[in-house]
Order: sequence, then structure tokens, then C-alpha cells
Amino acid sequence: MATGGGWAPARSVERHGAPRGGGGTRSKSVAPCPRRPSPSPARSRPAPDNGGSADSCRVRVAIRLRPKNSEDLAYGSDFDSCVELQPESKRLKLKKNNWICESYKFDEVFSENASQKRVYEVVAKPVVESVLEGYNGTVMAYGQTGTGKTYTVGRLGKDDPSERGIMVRALEHILSSMSFETDRVAISYLQLYLESVQDLLDPEKTNIPIVEDAKTGEISLPGASIVEIKDLEHVFHLLQIGEANRHAANTKMNTESSRSHAILIIHLQRSSRIKEENSSLSNDTHDIFPDDLPLVLKSKLLIVDLAGSERIDKSGSEGHMIEEAKFINLSLTSLGKCINALAENSPHIPTRDSKLTRILRDSFGGTARTSLVVTIGPSSRHYSETSSTIMFGQRAMKVVNTIKLKEEVDYETLYKKVEREVDQLTSEMERQQKLMKNEKMQLDKKLKESEGSFHDLRMTSNIRIENLEKEKCQLESAVKTLMRDLEEERGQNNLLSEQIAELEKLVNENKQQQLENLSRMKIFTDTTKEHEKEMEELLRQLQEERRCSSSLKDRMSVLQQELCDAQSSTQESMAHELEKKLTKVTEEFTSQVQSLKEKISELISEKEVIYEELKSTQEKVQQEMLHRQGLEDQILRLKWSTSDICAEESKTSYGMVRSGSGLGNAAFVSKSGKIREALSGQRGTISKIFEEVGLPNVLALLKSEDLDVQIHAVKVVANLAAEDINQERIVEEGGLDALLSLLETSENTTIHRVTAGAVANLAMNGSNQGVIMNKGGARLLANVASKTEDPQTLRLVAGAIANLCGNEKLHLMLKRDGGIKALLGMVRSGHAEVIAQIARGIANFAKCESRVISQGHRKGRSLLIEDGVLTWMVANSTRFSHSTTRHIELAFCHLAQNEDNTCDIIASGGIKELLRISRESPRDDARNLAKMALDSNPAFLREVQ
Ligand code: ADP
Ligand code: MG
Repeated sequence: MATGGGWAPARSVERHGAPRGGGGTRSKSVAPCPRRPSPSPARSRPAPDNGGSADSCRVRVAIRLRPKNSEDLAYGSDFDSCVELQPESKRLKLKKNNWICESYKFDEVFSENASQKRVYEVVAKPVVESVLEGYNGTVMAYGQTGTGKTYTVGRLGKDDPSERGIMVRALEHILSSMSFETDRVAISYLQLYLESVQDLLDPEKTNIPIVEDAKTGEISLPGASIVEIKDLEHVFHLLQIGEANRHAANTKMNTESSRSHAILIIHLQRSSRIKEENSSLSNDTHDIFPDDLPLVLKSKLLIVDLAGSERIDKSGSEGHMIEEAKFINLSLTSLGKCINALAENSPHIPTRDSKLTRILRDSFGGTARTSLVVTIGPSSRHYSETSSTIMFGQRAMKVVNTIKLKEEVDYETLYKKVEREVDQLTSEMERQQKLMKNEKMQLDKKLKESEGSFHDLRMTSNIRIENLEKEKCQLESAVKTLMRDLEEERGQNNLLSEQIAELEKLVNENKQQQLENLSRMKIFTDTTKEHEKEMEELLRQLQEERRCSSSLKDRMSVLQQELCDAQSSTQESMAHELEKKLTKVTEEFTSQVQSLKEKISELISEKEVIYEELKSTQEKVQQEMLHRQGLEDQILRLKWSTSDICAEESKTSYGMVRSGSGLGNAAFVSKSGKIREALSGQRGTISKIFEEVGLPNVLALLKSEDLDVQIHAVKVVANLAAEDINQERIVEEGGLDALLSLLETSENTTIHRVTAGAVANLAMNGSNQGVIMNKGGARLLANVASKTEDPQTLRLVAGAIANLCGNEKLHLMLKRDGGIKALLGMVRSGHAEVIAQIARGIANFAKCESRVISQGHRKGRSLLIEDGVLTWMVANSTRFSHSTTRHIELAFCHLAQNEDNTCDIIASGGIKELLRISRESPRDDARNLAKMALDSNPAFLREVQ
């Protein structure tokens, strides 16, 4: 900071010319310090001067003497310098002539040797520093044309730094002092010419209006370009443009000088942060802004190169040039007037009279720190201009400004900051929204899935509950029925047992009676034989007698002859004697004959009686036989019904009889308790009887004309066929042929029923199965099944076919003969026992078929599929009793083991069924088979997924 001789102290007058800031702006009438001041709102205090003076706000005025130029020198010594400088006392002596000399004191006096650097440091540097602190500032050159205003202020000195004028140095100073991160510096370069403001950086812009803020009174030129600068190169570039554009009218005095006023406005904006306790911001503002407000110091530096201050006539202008000079002087005159008014503390300052005074309103009597360089030439030729110039400077020194710090909330930074925060928050919000959206989508998806599975689960549960309830109801009703039936059956059983006991007693009695009858018959026979012998004897005797009588007759005739002869020969006495004898013999004979006749007739009548007795005994025996047969039938019927009841009543007491390769079931085999024992005893009895009667005789009865006999015979055969030992024998002895013939020819439903039962029992035997099939048994059974609706018949037919299903060698034939179709057809009955047999048959079939296929003996899809068994199984697997369900499930699982059935299983919706069995079936074997099928068959796996 150059002090040199120091700025001379002057009167200290404070004027508060600038209006108070409003809104976020605050003004401080404080003195600038070399460094940032501590803010003291709304307080005006004298700023320490460079020299420590208290009147720091006075306009500082320095005078600069231009070295003599060629023109000055040309005038010689007569016109030697009229100016004498006394730099040590900061005085200037102006010699009017050799006698009159006036001395003036200035804040600084620069001789012709003063360097540009020193001029800058003394005149401009304090102002620039003040501007850097946030105060407005003005540096202005005033003087006659050609005295060095432009040299002092506007010299670029691009190549020679020592030549640089105040503009370049001030910008250089500012650029080096500010922070590019937080501060900004920009310039406008204008010229005022003929009361028109023109943009020197964009000369197209002319007549730029001067706008005064109604609130703050601040002057701005909104039409002018404001170019932000970053470095000195840019400064040079812009100033060169400005210089080139500066309108310079030639004058007689100095062709290089301009008649326009050049005004460089440096806009400086620096950031500042002030803590709350120090802040003078209004409470309202504090409510809105955070503690650590981004504040900004906005200041302006005006560097003005005025047009020449000489009078018009002296400038020699003409025509419009005169007009021009008038305007030039208008502004300058107006400036002079204002300075005068200010210097004299006049209440009215005519700042509005010209554009220059409006632009410089803050520089004189305003809030800016102002320095003025008054340039003079040495030549006495221009004494009066020099004198008036000096006087201008002297008056200007009296002008006191009230400098104020202008601090504003940095809305821009604040805005940017807030905007950045808003952006961050927005992007964060968007991110969160996106996350939320994603989360929502995922949750929605999960919800949907859960809903789906919940729905499925609910559906499945509902179905299961329904099924279970149905099953429960069925079971309950079945249990009830069973209980009721059981009770009834118990009663009946008791009754039957009693009946059986009675019947057995009866049978025993009958047997006893029969035995008695037999012995009686024997006795009768013996008696008859004896009688016959006797009769023979008698007949023989009779014949003997007859022969005797004929011999007697012969003797008699001889005797008669002899008598006649005697009569004739006088042997009358002899004759008489002989006659007597004859008469006697005849009488004897006659009596003998008579007695014989009587005897014979007695014997005959006796024989007749015996015959009668024999006949009645035979009839009795016959009746007893029939009665006994009836009783046996009754026993069998009772046994069947008891066995059926027992089967339903208890599973433990009912079992499948394994026969051949499949699951067998004897149609007439009872396996339960007392009845079984009773019946086996009974059957033993019957067997014994039939052993006596002989199987061929029983089988012969199958062909009896008498229907009852036929029925009884079939029943007996069926009963015998329930025993393993009889099964083959019955077939061997032609029983099967007779039974099949009955199936074919009989129209009687009872015959059909019992015959089917007999065939079913025979079909338990493995070797019989082939014979039955070969003899067309399956076809005949199917035929019966199609004709009847009687559940018992259907049950027995189904049982027979089911037994045949257990032989894999017969499968093809069974299918061909319509056995499968017939089996499935019997489903129409809806009778649980019929369906149980059907399910058993299907299970037999599927199991054997699966075995054959797994052993590689056969290939291709199941024979069951074509006849619709698979479809039926899938649709009905859970509809029936547990044992039936188990058969169906097992059959289905066996089919699922065969890969050739895959397509049909999938098409029939069997996957779901397979899954159900694998999870829900109460039977381990079914579950394992289902799992095995699902795991081993890729097509099933795909379907499941
Ligand atoms: P004005 O702008 O006041 O009309 P100029 O600045 O154009 O005057 O100066 C006129 C001439 O005098 C220019 O050639 C300039 O170089 C020269 N001159 C002015 N002041 C000085 C100085 N202090 N030292 C050297 N040359 C100067
Ligand atoms: Mg000039």
C-alpha cells in the first residue's frame, strides 16, 4: 500500500447517501479494512485511512503531471511549465505568470516521472482493496484532452507491464486476490458519448438505458454485456475490443484522444459466511435460512476515463462537432455542478441532469470509495484549462462519501445449494420410490403367489375337507348301517346259529332216521326175501301139490278105470274102498289146495303190505333227502350272507385268498368264527354225503330237468368248489363244462348267480383259470354281466373276472373276450361290493401286467387303457371305500411304472392323481410306487414343474 506523502486529511463529513438494503440485502456503513471486516450491521464507523486518517470516506484526489510532449517542447521556454510540483508537501503551484502563483494541496501529487505502478498503488490500490472487501469503488481520471487520462487509466501495456494502466492493474490485482471457486469477477465496458450509452464489448448495443432500483436507488445498466473473466489474457482481449470500439472523434487537440467517456465496470462477487450471532439479517430471513447462510459480498468498481474537460471553442470543433462538445460538456458540467453542490453541502445534488452523473451517483456523495486522478499538462498555453481542472480536483476533495458494505444472501449459491440438495433428495426419493416400487412389485408378486398357493391350498383343503366330510358322512352312515346290520346280523347270526344247531340236530336226527330207515329197509328187504323164499317154497309146494294132485288125478282116473274094471269084474268092494280112498284123498287134496291157496293169498297180501311199507319208507327217505338238501341250501345261504357281513364287519376277519399268480377271492368261502366252523362242519357233512352220493352223480344233477334240483346241484358244486382240493377235480369230472353250459343256456337268474359263484371259486385255481378262459368262460361271464342288474350276481361275476385278471398269461384273451370291458361295465351297478371286486380285478391285472412288462416279456401301453380303465381310475380313485381306493391307487401306480402309458396318464390328468397318491395315500406301497413313477419318468417331472 503506497502511502508516499499520504493522502491529505480533509474535513470529515459523513453523508448517508445510499438507501438501506431491503430483503436479504444489508448495508453496512463501515470502513473497509485491509482484510475482511467483522460485520457490524447497520453501523457506520470511520474506516482507518491508509495514513490512519479518520476521514477515510472523503474522495481522494491525486494530480498527475504529464511529461512534456513534442508539442510542448516546440513552444519553447516562453511557454515553459506553468506548474510546479512540491511532492513532499503534496502541493502544486500554478503560475499564472511570473507574479501570480497559487498553491494547491492534493492527496497526492505525481510528477511527470511518476511510474504507472506508483500511480496505481497510491490512487487505485486502496479502492481496489476496498472493493475486494465488498465496498463499491470508483477510480476516475479527469483532465484536459491529451493530458494522459487514457494513459493513466486505460493503457494496456500488454507487452510492457510497467506501462499498464489502472484498469489492467486493478483487474490483475482482483484476479490474484479472489478465489475462483467461490468468487466471480465480470466486466462491462461502456462508453458514454453524446448522452448515449454504448456497449464497447458489443457495439451494436447502443442507447443502453440507465435503470435505478426504486428501493435501493442502485444504478444498473441491464442492457450492457457482463463478461465474466478468468485470466489476464481475457482481460487484455476484452479491453482491446473495447478500445477498438471506442469511438474517438478526431479533435484538433489530440487526434488520439476520445471525446467519449469510457467506463469500465468491474462486478465482483465474493462469498462470505457469517455466523448467526454476528448476522444482522432480519428475523424473517433467519426463519427461512439456516444458521450458516451462504452470504455474498457484491461490489462494483468503476474505472472512468472521462472525455477531455476543455472548452468547446478551444477544441475547435465545428458543426455537429459543436453539438457533440456541448453534450460532452453537459455531462462534465453536470458532474462539476454535482461536485460543487456536494462540496458545499448543498441540499440538492443534480445527479439526474446527465447520464454521467447518474452513473457516477454512488461515486460522489454515495457509498463508494472514490479516487480521482486529475491529469494536467505542463504547458502554460493551457493555463486556464489546467487551472479549472485543478479547481475541479480541489472541489472534489471536499466530497465525502459514506462507504457501505453490501452483503447479500447468496441466493444463487443458496439456490444452487438448495437445488443440489433438492436434486439429491429427489434422486434419493426416486431411488427410494424405485426401491419401494421394486419392493412393492416383489411383495405384489409374493402376495399373488401366496394368494395363488393359498387359493390352491384352500381349494385343495376344501376338496379334502369335502372329501373327508363326505367320507366321514359315508363312514358314519356306513358305520351306522354296519352297526345296525351288525346288530341285526348278530341277532340273525344268533338266530341262524340256533337254526343251524336245530338244523344240524334235524340233520342228525334225519341221519339217524335214515340209518334207521336203511336198517328197516334192510329188514324189510330181508323179510321180503324171506317172504319171497317162503312164497317160492309155497309156490314150489303148490306146484308139488299140483303135480301131486295131477298124479292123484291120474291115480284117481286109474282107480276110476280100475273101479270101472272092477265094477265090471266084480270088484265092487274094492271099488268102493277105492272110491272111499279116492274121496278121502280128494278131500285131503282139496283141503290142502285150499290151505295152500289161503296161504298164498295170505302171502300175497303180506307181500303187498311189505311193498306198501317199502314204498312209503322210500318216499320218506326221498322226502328226508329233499328236506335235508333244503336245509343245506338254507345253511349255505346263511353262510354266504354271514360271510359277506363278516367281510364288511371286520377286515381282520376277511382276507384275500392267494391263488395262482394273482389275488384270489373265494365266492363261497366264509372265514369267520363260529359260522365258519359250523359251516366247515356242515360242509364236511355235505362232503361226506356227497362222497357217499359221488361227485359224478352230483354233477349229473347239474343237467337235471328239474330247475330246483339244478339250482341245488349248482349250489352244492359251488360249495365244493370253494375247497382247494375239489377245484381241479370238479373241472376234471366235467363240472366246469356243465357250469359254463348253464351260464350259456339258462335263463334263470338264480342259476346265473350261483353258477357265477361256482365259476369264481373254480377260477381261484391257477390251472383252472386257463381252462375257464379256453372254454370261453370270460365271454360267458361278460354276457351274464351285461344282462343282469342283480348286485349279487354282478359281484360274483366281477369276482370271477377279478380272479382271472390275476393270471398275466390270460390278459390278452381276457381283453379280447370282453372281460375288461365287462368288468368296468359293472361299475354302473354302483354297489360297493361290486366295485370292490372290480377294483380288485383291475389291481390284479395292473400288477401282473406291470410285472410282465418290467421283466421284459411284453411291451406297449397297458391293455387296460383302451377299455377306459385308466380314465375311470383317475376320476374315481377316492370315491369309494378304503380298500377299493387302495386297489385303484395301486393299479394306477402300477400303470404309471410303464413308460408307454406316460402319454395316456398325462392326457387323463393322472399327474395330479399321482402327486396326490405320493403325498396323501395312507398306504406306504402306493405312496412309494407313485413317488418312484414321478421320480423316474422325465415326462412326469416336466409336467409336475
Ligand atoms: P488524454 O487521454 O488525456 O487525451 P492521452 O492519455 O491520450 O491523453 O495522452 C496523450 C499523449 O501523451 C499520449 O501519447 C501519451 O502517451 C502521452 N502521455 C500522457 N501521459 C504520459 C506520461 N505520464 N508519461 C509519458 N507519456 C504520457
Ligand atoms: Mg484519452
